Amino acid sequence: MTVSRAAEASPEEKGLVFDIQRFSIHDGPGIRTCVFLKGCPLRCAWCSNPESQGRQPELMWDRRSGRSTTVGDWMTVDEVMAVVLRDKDYYEHSGGGMTLSGGEFMIQPEFSLALIEAAHRQQITVVGETSGLAQPAVFSSIVDQLDFVMMDVKHYDPMRHVEVTRARLPLILQNAAYLENSRTPHVFRIPVIPGVNDTPDDAEGFAEMLTEYGITAVELVPFHQYGKGKYADLDRPYGFEDSPSLTPEDLTEFRSRLESHGVTASISD
Ligand code: SF4
Repeated sequence: MTVSRAAEASPEEKGLVFDIQRFSIHDGPGIRTCVFLKGCPLRCAWCSNPESQGRQPELMWDRRSGRSTTVGDWMTVDEVMAVVLRDKDYYEHSGGGMTLSGGEFMIQPEFSLALIEAAHRQQITVVGETSGLAQPAVFSSIVDQLDFVMMDVKHYDPMRHVEVTRARLPLILQNAAYLENSRTPHVFRIPVIPGVNDTPDDAEGFAEMLTEYGITAVELVPFHQYGKGKYADLDRPYGFEDSPSLTPEDLTEFRSRLESHGVTASISD
């Protein structure tokens, strides 16, 4: 379900949601309902959800209807949970549940915590997909409530990290260390992006940084072009038009180099 109803107000008890996807199988274990909160402190140049970045509702061209539509809807916890609860039986049979994603869902901490609490009251587990960029107190308070965390690490070089995401790396690493030492099950993921971080030397750079923080396992996510059309729909430039999507086979050497430096890696498809 794409949420596109225009917002009328932003009362504090509501959160800004830009999409709710039912029957997702790529955002944590089992069958899940993925709740995408709008707003992100990063600006990754390859972002496949550019409509998620802004912290307010925004206009986007809708190819299906052939007219502009507003992306982002202020919703209450009860309104979100009404959608999530539709598939409770599927969660129970598949080991699934609700996933909070974005954007960066932690940018709306009170709303995120309220959703987690509401899901847990219904015996629904909650996965969080995060960039790791949040104030440490916010990050830890949310991580401690989640059942599973998927956290991206996008670059190992602090200067290059700023260039490609417009965000600084140290706070993300501080939060990564917290997550690694927490009791919350988790996985660190590296989105492997052509021309950004995809060479065997980059793999060595990641391995050096990750092992410094005690992280010895990652999941590699090959670059894809799912977001390509959205940049045109938002009338924004996109710098990866000519970059081919990567396959798991393309990442074989990258994985080998990581593993030869002490980091085991799986590759998602
Ligand atoms: S952290 Fe995720 S949502 Fe935010 S800009 Fe990067 S890819 Fe997009």
